Amino acid sequence: MRRNLVTAAITLALCAATLQASAQTPAEVSRKASPPAVRATTQLPRNVVPSHYAIEVTPHADKLAFDGKVVIDIDVLEPTSTITLQAVNLTIAKSMLTGKSRKALLPKVSLEEPSQTATFTFDAPLAAGRYALAIDYTGVINTQANGLFAIDYDTEAGKKRALYTQFEAPDARRFVPSWDEPNLKATFDLTVNAPSADMVVSNMPQTASKHLGNGMKRVVFATSPKMSTYLLFLAVGDFERATDTVDGTEVGVVATRGKVGQAAGALEASKLVLAEYNDYFGVKYPLPKLDNVAAPGGSQFFSAMENWGAILSFEYILLVDPKISTIGNVQGIFSVAAHEIAHQWFGNLVTMSWWDDVWLNEGFATWMAARATEKFHPEWNTRLDAVGGRESAMNRDAVATTHPVVQQVQTVEQLGQAFDAITYSKGGAVIRMLENYVGEDAWREGVRAYMKKHAYGNTVSADLWSAVQSAAGKPIQDIARDFTTQPGIPLITVESATCSGGNTTLQLSQGEFTKDRPGKVPLHWRVPVVAATAGGVRVDTVVENGKGTLQVPGCGAVVVNAGQAGYYRTVYDRAQFAAIGRDFAKLDPIDQLGIMNDTWALGMAGLRPASDYLGLAKGVSIDADPAIWDDIAGTLGSINGYLAGNDAAQARFQAYARGVLQPVFAKVGWNGKADDSAPVQLLRTTLIGALAGLGDEAIIAEARRRFAANDDASLPPALRSLVTGIVANKADAATWDRLHAMARAEKTPLIKNQLYNLLGIAEDKALGQRALDLALTDEPGATNSAAMIGAVAGQHPDMAFDFAVVHRADVEKLVDASSQARYYPGIGGGSSDRAMIGKLRAFAEAHIPASARNATETAIANIEYRLKVKQERMPAIEAWLQQQGK
Ligand SMILES: [Zn+2]
Repeated sequence: MRRNLVTAAITLALCAATLQASAQTPAEVSRKASPPAVRATTQLPRNVVPSHYAIEVTPHADKLAFDGKVVIDIDVLEPTSTITLQAVNLTIAKSMLTGKSRKALLPKVSLEEPSQTATFTFDAPLAAGRYALAIDYTGVINTQANGLFAIDYDTEAGKKRALYTQFEAPDARRFVPSWDEPNLKATFDLTVNAPSADMVVSNMPQTASKHLGNGMKRVVFATSPKMSTYLLFLAVGDFERATDTVDGTEVGVVATRGKVGQAAGALEASKLVLAEYNDYFGVKYPLPKLDNVAAPGGSQFFSAMENWGAILSFEYILLVDPKISTIGNVQGIFSVAAHEIAHQWFGNLVTMSWWDDVWLNEGFATWMAARATEKFHPEWNTRLDAVGGRESAMNRDAVATTHPVVQQVQTVEQLGQAFDAITYSKGGAVIRMLENYVGEDAWREGVRAYMKKHAYGNTVSADLWSAVQSAAGKPIQDIARDFTTQPGIPLITVESATCSGGNTTLQLSQGEFTKDRPGKVPLHWRVPVVAATAGGVRVDTVVENGKGTLQVPGCGAVVVNAGQAGYYRTVYDRAQFAAIGRDFAKLDPIDQLGIMNDTWALGMAGLRPASDYLGLAKGVSIDADPAIWDDIAGTLGSINGYLAGNDAAQARFQAYARGVLQPVFAKVGWNGKADDSAPVQLLRTTLIGALAGLGDEAIIAEARRRFAANDDASLPPALRSLVTGIVANKADAATWDRLHAMARAEKTPLIKNQLYNLLGIAEDKALGQRALDLALTDEPGATNSAAMIGAVAGQHPDMAFDFAVVHRADVEKLVDASSQARYYPGIGGGSSDRAMIGKLRAFAEAHIPASARNATETAIANIEYRLKVKQERMPAIEAWLQQQGK
C-alpha cells in the first residue's frame, strides 16, 4: 500500500504548517535494547484453518448493499464445538457445515462487534477433519474506502457510480466472513453478478461471463493462487482497459470510460518494472495478468494498494491529465507503480506472518521503488530523494513517542496506525543502509534465496536477515536487529580529526539524536559508518560499543556518512564544520544535502547554533544541484512559519529570504525551456511557491495575471495547479467565488477534486470558514471532504480542529475507518497554540481508544517542539540576520 501524504507542491510551499497525515503506533520506548516482547501472531483461535473460499456476490450499487454467499473449505485440527472467524457489518442469514459422509449441521451464529468476529456453535463437538462451511449473508457498500465501497463521479453524461474494494489491513471481513489474518492464506474463487454493461475486474482473469437477463450478467474469475485475504480485489463500473504483454504476462490499466488513454504512462511504467523485477527477484511474476485500476476520489489512508494482479490507484496518482499534470505527477505515477509492483513479490508472494512486521512489505517496496526509478529514469536525478525520505523518518523518530520498525500490533486500531513514516521511510532507509553494507550483488542474492524459500508462505524479519547473511558472508543480523527492534536515531560525533602522513584519523563516538530529551541516556547500535574527503576514496567501519576509529585517505574536510546511506546523524567539531563549509562546492550533491539536513536538525535541537544552516546556505552557489535549492527554499519556508506572530522579525526575515531565492529564480524563470531537466522543472515550481509564501509581490501579481488571462500560454500544465493554488491562497471573496464556480462546473474528477482542495487553502480566515462549511455538504464528493478540512487545517489548524470537533458526527462519516485515530491529531497538529495540547488530549480521551492514541501524543510532541523552536531557536536566527545587515 502506498500511504497517503499531502503531496501537492503548492500546499507544501505555501503552508506554514503542512498537514501530515502520518500515523503513529504506540509502542513502549525502552531505554535499553530489547527484543520485541511476546509476539501477537493471531487474534483468532488456530483450531480451524481455511484452505479455499468460493465467493459469490451480487452488489446493489443503488442501495449501497450487497448479497453474498461463501463456501469455505476448512480443516478442523482438533475436536471443537465452535468455529470463530472474522466478520464486521455483515448480516448472516444462513449457515451450514458439511463434511464427508456426515449429515449437514446447522450451527447457531453469534456476531461479536468489538472483536469483529462471528462464532458458529454446534450442539456436539466436531471431529477433526475437512469440512465445508457455507454462509449466506448481506453486507453494506461503504462511501469511504473500506471493504466494498462506492465512488460517485462526474462525467459529461452526468453522475456515475463505480464500486471498488480496499481490504488492507483488516477489512476483507467487511466483504466476506473469513480468517482475515495475513498468515491464514487460502485460494479464492470469485463469482460476481453485475450489470451487463459494466466491466468487472478482480485479481485473476475471467473464465466465463454469462447473461442472466434483466440487464445482468454473471462473471466467473479463475482461482487465485494461495494468498492472504487482504489482497483480494473487486471493481465494477463503466470502465475501459488497455493492455500489453511482458514476459508472457498480460499487463493492463483500467480507468473509467474515456480516461484510459491518460493511463498510458502507468502502463509503460508497469511493463518496464515488471520485466525488471522478474529478473531481480529470480522468481517470475506468478499470475497470468497484472492490472492497475484507477479510481476517482481519494482516501485519508492510502493512495494505492497492491491487490495481487489488480492494483488499485486513485486517479491523481495514476492518470496524466493534459491540462494539469506536471513532471512531479509523472514521477509520482512511475514511483507508485514501482512500489505496488514490488509488493507483488514482497508482500503478496511472501507475506509477513503478522502485522508486527508490516515494515517488511512497506520498507522494502519503498526502497525497491526508489531503486527502479533511479535505474529507469536517471534523467530525473532522484538519487538525492533518499535523503528526503530518511529525513521524514528521522523527524518522526526523534521524539519520545516513536517506536521500533518492528512493532507490536494487537488491535485493529493499532493496525490503522502501523502504516507510518517509521514503517515506510525508516524501513526503506535501513534496507538501503544494509544493502550498502553487504553490497548490491550479495543483497540481491539474499533476496532471491528468500523469495525462493518462502514463496506463497509467511515470514518474520529474521528470515530476511539470515538469507542475506548467508549470501553475503558478512554479519548483518546484529546490525539489522539494532536498527529494527530499537527506536531512535544514532548520533555519530566526530571527536577529533587528525591529519598525518596524508591521512586523516577520525575518532568517533556514538550517542543518540533526540528533539525532546536532551539528557537522554543513549541506546547502543552497531552503526556502519562510511567516510571520505571531498572526491576521495570511501572507507568504512562499524562503530560498536559507542566508539570507533577510521583512517580516511587525504586531508581537509572529511564527510562522515559519505554517500548518505547511513541511518544516523553526524555532528562535527567547529574546525571540521568550517572546513566542510569551505569545501562545500567540491562535495557530492548527495553529501551536501545530507550535511544541510543534519545541520538544520542539530541547530533546531539546540546541539549546534541555530543559524549554522543559514551560514551554509549563504555559501551555496547559484549553480548547485536543484535539490539543494529545493531544500533551502523549504527550510526558509519553515523559518518563515516559525516566525509567524512576530511581524517585525518575520518581515525582516522574508526580505532576506526573498533575496536568497530571487537570483536562483531569475535563472530558471517562469517559462519552461525545451531543454529544462526534470529537477529544474521541479525547482521552478518550488521557487514560485516559496517566493509567494515569502510575500514576493511580483510573483503573486504574475500568478494573478496568468490566472486572469486563462490561456494556454499563461497556464501550461506545469504551472496551472501552482498558479491556481497561489491565487486560492491569496484569494478575496470574489476570487474564492470564482474558484468555487469553476469547481462546480468542472466535469473531470481529477481537476474537480483538486479545485475543491484549493478552496481550503485561503489565508483569509472567513474564506477558510466557508470552505469548512462547504466540506460538510454533498457538493465536494464523499471522499474529498476530509481532505478539504485538512487543507483548511494547513492554514488555520485551530479553527479547523474546533470545527471538526463541533461537527464530529458528520466529519466521522467523511473519514475511512483506518484513519479515524489519526485524523483529528492531523488536523490540530499544525497548531502553534499551547491550548491545542489540552484540546487534543481531551478529544483523544473521549473518542480514541487508549491503544490508538500515539498519533495524538506525537502531534502534541510536535506542537511542544514547535513552541520550543519559536521561543528558543528563533532569537538566534534573528540575531544572525541582524549581523548580516551590518
Ligand atoms: Zn506499500
